Amino acid sequence: MIDLYLAGYAGRKATELRRAALLLDALVVDVRLSPRSPRPEWRKYPLIGLIKGRYLWVQDWGNVNYANGGPVQIRDFERGLEALRGAGDWRRLILLCGCARTEQCHRLVLADELAWNHLPCVVYELDWADPASSVRISTYDALRRPGSTLMESMTPARPDEKSFDDLPHVSFADAARSRRRSLLGETNAAE
Ligand SMILES: [Zn+2]
Repeated sequence: MIDLYLAGYAGRKATELRRAALLLDALVVDVRLSPRSPRPEWRKYPLIGLIKGRYLWVQDWGNVNYANGGPVQIRDFERGLEALRGAGDWRRLILLCGCARTEQCHRLVLADELAWNHLPCVVYELDWADPASSVRISTYDALRRPGSTLMESMTPARPDEKSFDDLPHVSFADAARSRRRSLLGETNAAE
């Protein structure tokens, strides 16, 4: 099971992102089509310098219409997924974009696609001040019921190393395979 944290850096400092990535033991997946920013700390190379091996820019998960106001269109979802798999096995991911509001950002579309079609994962809205208290959200409801609130009234996530260590370690490839099998209604002895 993957924990997916959605994060928009508007109004935040890159050092806060580094702190969250370390606290959560997560890989930061930058899903901007262009990793540029008027604020130098949010550009690709300063981020690599700051977050190092925990940073991955996945351009294929960018929204090709981000600058023209058109509908969300992911550049190449499958190729982006391949890039992510190539980054190794991570149990926690932070999907990063510049947009302040998750419900107005393509990161929600990505999370929905991942959670429902590719990876068994639980989706959270990153709490920048207290990452361990990030609130679980339902991407499915948010996308399919316009006007519905994004947040679920669920218990906030409390990443606890002990309990997470109890979970079987699942690679992205295994997760995708078992998801496909379960969608086909086949029994998966490994689960
Ligand atoms: Zn965005």
